[in-house]
Amino acid sequence: MEERATAELRELLGERLSTAPSVLDLHGRDESSLPPSPPDAVAHPRSTEEAAAIVAICARHRVPVIPFGAGSSLEGHVLATRGGVSVDTQLMDQIRRVSLPDLDVTVQAGVRRVALEQRLGPDGLFFSVDPGADASLGGMAATGASGTNTVRYGTMRENVLDLEVVLADGRVIHTGTRARKSSAGYDLTHLFVGSEGTLGLITELTLRLHAIPEAVSAAACPFAGVEAAVATAIAIVQAGVSIARCELLDATMMRAVNEHAQLDHPAAPTLFLEFHGSPAGVEEDARYVAELAREHGGGDFTWASRTEDRNRLWRARHNAYFAGLALRPGCRALTTDVCVPVSELAGCIEETLADVEQLPFPAPLLGHLADGNFHMMMLIDPSDPEERRIGQDAYDRLVARALAAGGTCTGEHGVGLGKRRSLADEAGAALGVMRSLKQALDPAGLFNPDKVLGA
Ligand SMILES: Cc1cc2nc3c(=O)[nH]c(=O)nc-3n(C[C@H](O)[C@H](O)[C@H](O)COP(=O)(O)OP(=O)(O)OC[C@H]3O[C@@H](n4cnc5c(N)ncnc54)[C@H](O)[C@@H]3O)c2cc1C
Repeated sequence: MEERATAELRELLGERLSTAPSVLDLHGRDESSLPPSPPDAVAHPRSTEEAAAIVAICARHRVPVIPFGAGSSLEGHVLATRGGVSVDTQLMDQIRRVSLPDLDVTVQAGVRRVALEQRLGPDGLFFSVDPGADASLGGMAATGASGTNTVRYGTMRENVLDLEVVLADGRVIHTGTRARKSSAGYDLTHLFVGSEGTLGLITELTLRLHAIPEAVSAAACPFAGVEAAVATAIAIVQAGVSIARCELLDATMMRAVNEHAQLDHPAAPTLFLEFHGSPAGVEEDARYVAELAREHGGGDFTWASRTEDRNRLWRARHNAYFAGLALRPGCRALTTDVCVPVSELAGCIEETLADVEQLPFPAPLLGHLADGNFHMMMLIDPSDPEERRIGQDAYDRLVARALAAGGTCTGEHGVGLGKRRSLADEAGAALGVMRSLKQALDPAGLFNPDKVLGA
């Protein structure tokens, strides 16, 4: 990056521009198994005006801009493959307004989901999208994130009402309003949700909120095999039960979480379930689901209704990623996240399990089953090219299987660097339309180069 650009950024930001090697290193890596690639500088704006000024300086000097939230993404999204400026939104952490009557909130892009939860809880409200990491709301919109509640409350796509975005040409736009619905023109909100920092920098978001339900009940149920757990989840969805969470951990993953979090669940494929509603509604749904599970050979339900008991129950699921990594010290995870129509889920998982048996490394499986979305966490030795090749081949076979079943290569993690080929296979001719949009909004290709569409 040329010195003039650094000098102008320093004049704008002072100490909030960093070129310290440790800071660059932190912003050039993520949780993926891809090698790090640090930026030339890291900028910490506090306001939309500063963010727009940073983008203007970078545009003038043709310096890449890589938006950065919490850096928890899994596909090389934040790697600075061509250097440039990582724009870290962590100081953009203001919750601007909360509206109880309208059930919405406006936040700066750097607000983290746990901080938002803590702010909303005392008002009896919550924001439903809960990825396993304490991600930023800007990053969650940019990746089209989802979490354990999606089957009931939707992904980021269903929960963003409006975005404020800095474009490559310096314009600051709003993509929507606070209205619950709109037929006004092209749907720019949904263009930027999932754009992974390649079309603009999100500076503020207006989000839908939900009232904390009157009654919440959670349960864990072990099964003799993954197939029976999957069949139960499919039966729950097809019966139209309004389940709030329906998550699977396979036996390997259950062993991992037991060891990692000192829990004592049976080391068997387990469904974690949660019901939200009125006390009578929750009881009725829970009884019906327990019956469905029994019909599919499920074991005893462990129930939890008090908050602290539910938190203890869900600890197994929340710890799954790092518990999985601990199964093989020194490994990195090659994590898949295909999503298929729920009627195709059993077949897709069955074939995947047969494939996993042939792999020379552990590959625990977990899933947001009611969404048709599951992860295979391939624990590879990053220094062994043969393991990486075997893992990548299994990954490609799984994506091909999901696409053949009418599904997608990524239900929630996004494309980044890792899934560009899969996106091309999935999108076909639509990839050309995506390229035209990128060209129209960012003709110099400065925003997060190489991600999603490639060079
Ligand atoms: C343990 C663990 C569990 C996870 N569980 C889930 C899960 O259940 N569901 C799920 O969906 N994901 C999950 N993830 C992945 C990750 O948490 C999500 O992708 C999350 O949305 C990333 O947010 P972030 O703030 O960390 O973004 P970052 O990693 O910082 O950035 C991600 C992408 O968004 C872009 N970006 C960031 N901020 C902005 C902005 N303000 N404007 C424009 N672009 C921006 C970046 O350029 C990058 O392309 C998990 C990750 C881990 C490590």
